[in-house]
Amino acid sequence: MFKNLRILILLMILLTVAGTTWLSRWQAQSWTRPQVVTLYPINAGGDAATDAYLDRLDESAFAGLEPYFREQAASFGLPLSQPMRFVLARRVRALPPSVPRDGGALSAISWSLRMRWWAWRETPPSSPKPDVRLYLLYHPVVPGTVLPHSTGLEKGRLGLVNVFAGRAQEGSNQVVIAHETLHTFGATDKYDLGSLMPRFPEGYADPRREPRLPQSQAELMAGRIPLREDQARIPGGLGETVVGAGTAVEIGWVK
Ligand SMILES: [Zn+2]
Repeated sequence: MFKNLRILILLMILLTVAGTTWLSRWQAQSWTRPQVVTLYPINAGGDAATDAYLDRLDESAFAGLEPYFREQAASFGLPLSQPMRFVLARRVRALPPSVPRDGGALSAISWSLRMRWWAWRETPPSSPKPDVRLYLLYHPVVPGTVLPHSTGLEKGRLGLVNVFAGRAQEGSNQVVIAHETLHTFGATDKYDLGSLMPRFPEGYADPRREPRLPQSQAELMAGRIPLREDQARIPGGLGETVVGAGTAVEIGWVK
């Protein structure tokens, strides 16, 4: 009797989790209203130069994102004039749990749970209500610095995005923000994890181009513009990227 009851309760929990996951995916990919992506700036290292940059930071640093997604969605015939709205929220002072480096499945699950708990506790209230929460970790501009890997989670619809605290870097920062945003809508990476080279054909902005290389733009989820078989460069701004057909299917722009 008790055993049956226990199984019934477990089954109900499982169904609720499955239902919530399905519902959040449906909400993310139905595109019946603009999706609100709220940005929370954080000073990752606590240095004074980054503080000064963040004190002056306003919406102009993110002004390219809304028109970019409007144009990209329109090119796939999405009948929604504004698919995304980006909102700059107050700064967050607490640091999120750092992303594990070992790449193991268990530590990834544990980090994802801790991250969602941290976000639930530390996110300041903002209006309109966010659909997606992106925590922007700002780092000082030091030549030669390689930023830690950014992460966007579809489950929980949040992301940790590493960016530079510099006006000159705002173009490339927006590319990283756009990339991680689409992860929260279910898009997958389209580059080779070992070499970081875009995968053909899905990671190419124009896979039908002849000759195939060099390409002039990057597919957003491939992240780089392929120049030669073994050479690619990081785009300087959203104008050098497009959302490819494979990504458009993954995020529900093309049914
Ligand atoms: Zn990615």
